Amino acid sequence: MRIVFIGPPGAGKGTQAQRLVETYQMAHLSTGDMLRAARDAKTEVGLNAAKYMSSGALVPDAVIVAIIAERLGQSDCRKGYLLDGFPRTIAQAEALDEMLTEKGTPLDAVLELQVPEDELFRRLAGRGRADDTPEVIRQRLAAYRKQTEPLLDYYSRRGLLKSIDGQGAVDEIFDRATAALEGDLGKHV
Ligand code: ADP
Repeated sequence: MRIVFIGPPGAGKGTQAQRLVETYQMAHLSTGDMLRAARDAKTEVGLNAAKYMSSGALVPDAVIVAIIAERLGQSDCRKGYLLDGFPRTIAQAEALDEMLTEKGTPLDAVLELQVPEDELFRRLAGRGRADDTPEVIRQRLAAYRKQTEPLLDYYSRRGLLKSIDGQGAVDEIFDRATAALEGDLGKHV
């Protein structure tokens, strides 16, 4: 199965993504992890991306689309995958649609993790990652609202969107996620 996982920074996507890929045996495609690895390896793409990441801005669509296009061609993606952190803009979603149409492998579902903004700010400020200063957090939340939230409508129109409450215990949220995906996954497992 092929799933897109959407949620604002601080929503707890990473934790849930880990459990979902173990449960459903999917590849975990986290663009944040890929970009941080490229940055730490000091590749040209990574060093360029680091400039955007450190300010809370999104890296250019062409950069991330090229990374994902290559990753989707790798053999472990044949068993299905969870896209975590991609797409983040309408242009990226359109590029993904094009790639998947060409491969004949459409998405099964788009899962949205919903958390109110004041709670996000509290969680991010407490996390202490190097890119978690208040100004950068504000930038990342603003980028989510402006550039990523329009995807909810985009996928809702296509009948793919499943939204769940991202507040509560990790187990509770995981149960909501599997329940939301169940109907769709049942058809494809
Ligand atoms: P967060 O911790 O905000 O959920 P991630 O760990 O997914 O974010 O990504 C960290 C940073 O990497 C983002 O703030 C952004 O600069 C960059 N990034 C990750 N995925 C994308 C994407 N699909 N498009 C553009 N930039 C991205």
